[in-house]
Amino acid sequence: MKTDGGYTIKAGWMVDGRGRGIQENVLLEIAQGRICRCDATPGVDGGVSDFDLSDCMLIPGLIDCHVHLFMSGTADAAVREWQLNALYGRMQAVIEKHLNQQRACGVAAVRDGGDYAGHVLRFQQTRPPGGHPAVTVHTAGRAWRSAGRYGRLIGRPPGTGQNLAQAVMANHEGVDHVKIVNSGLNSLKTYGKETAPQFPLEELRAAVQVAAYQKRRVMVHVNGREPVRQSLAAGCHSIEHGFFMGADNMRRLAESQVFWVPTACTMQGYAKHAAPGSREADIARRNLDHQLEQIRQARALGVKVAVGTDAGTIGVHHGSAVREEIQLLLAAGYHIPEVVQCATQHGAALMGLPRAGVIAPGYRATLLALPGGPQVFPANLATPVWFMIDGQTVFDHRF
Ligand SMILES: [Zn+2]
Repeated sequence: MKTDGGYTIKAGWMVDGRGRGIQENVLLEIAQGRICRCDATPGVDGGVSDFDLSDCMLIPGLIDCHVHLFMSGTADAAVREWQLNALYGRMQAVIEKHLNQQRACGVAAVRDGGDYAGHVLRFQQTRPPGGHPAVTVHTAGRAWRSAGRYGRLIGRPPGTGQNLAQAVMANHEGVDHVKIVNSGLNSLKTYGKETAPQFPLEELRAAVQVAAYQKRRVMVHVNGREPVRQSLAAGCHSIEHGFFMGADNMRRLAESQVFWVPTACTMQGYAKHAAPGSREADIARRNLDHQLEQIRQARALGVKVAVGTDAGTIGVHHGSAVREEIQLLLAAGYHIPEVVQCATQHGAALMGLPRAGVIAPGYRATLLALPGGPQVFPANLATPVWFMIDGQTVFDHRF
């Protein structure tokens, strides 16, 4: 039934993104891209609706808080090499393909962690506005790292004679947030190996202040106790990866309510693609187990976790990786409403997306329908049946 130029949606189950229980038999009204009514009517047939999703579970569109749109998750060395050297003219189609993969999995927004050439930033700056409902992309452009340290593929060091804050100040054109690399990569050779921070605390703090002045948030690639402690002390807005950060940092995260994006699926990806029985496969598996234990602690302490995948890393594919990360959070003890919140409301809050990530009156009508009910979640994330961004249908596979 049409209502004032809008339309109605009937859903069998709904998880609204706020971490609360699962509602049944929900009726929604949408007008001008917004949700204007949302009522659970248990046991009552809501009558005829424009979109009958009675046999589906409705959740907000998914958000992946950590991707690298310039790389595919393939383990094919030739393809990875090509993507790391291709000129922008050819990378544009690659980025577009990755966004299509995200969209096909019901991902409505992604937060890009940067690439060495700034391809994704250029893509954003030349992307035509309007038209087909698009996946929201926020990008860091190119990340910041220290000269001679890890991060060559995603960023660059400050220029000669520049400190980090000066570099952030001078190079902000068009970026949505700032990405800083403040430790090494998580080792696949030595279990639990920790590296030194890449930047001194004062330099990091000054850079965060410059970013704050620009109204930009700072995401930090950081593993290990000291680099994470320092990144939190500097006021960074999200801890990305955070492998082996330790219990003290977990408490600091809980107190400060700074977001943690654990990207556990990266270790699952490495474990799958390393030679069976190899040292790398063994360490990747142990890293994953340790991270799942940290995620368990995070849940118990009330740390704000947001789903991010590091899609583009080996074995971590754009779109489908969100389901894998959700599966890992469930394995670490999260309940369905909590994990949906990590993948929707928390992502929207971290990205600063207004009126997004929640199904409630006044919010944007960005909705994903999965076949069946909560008993088949998260398997049903593999076959979403209907997806809408801001009130516009992206796909409808019901018939
Ligand atoms: Zn990353």
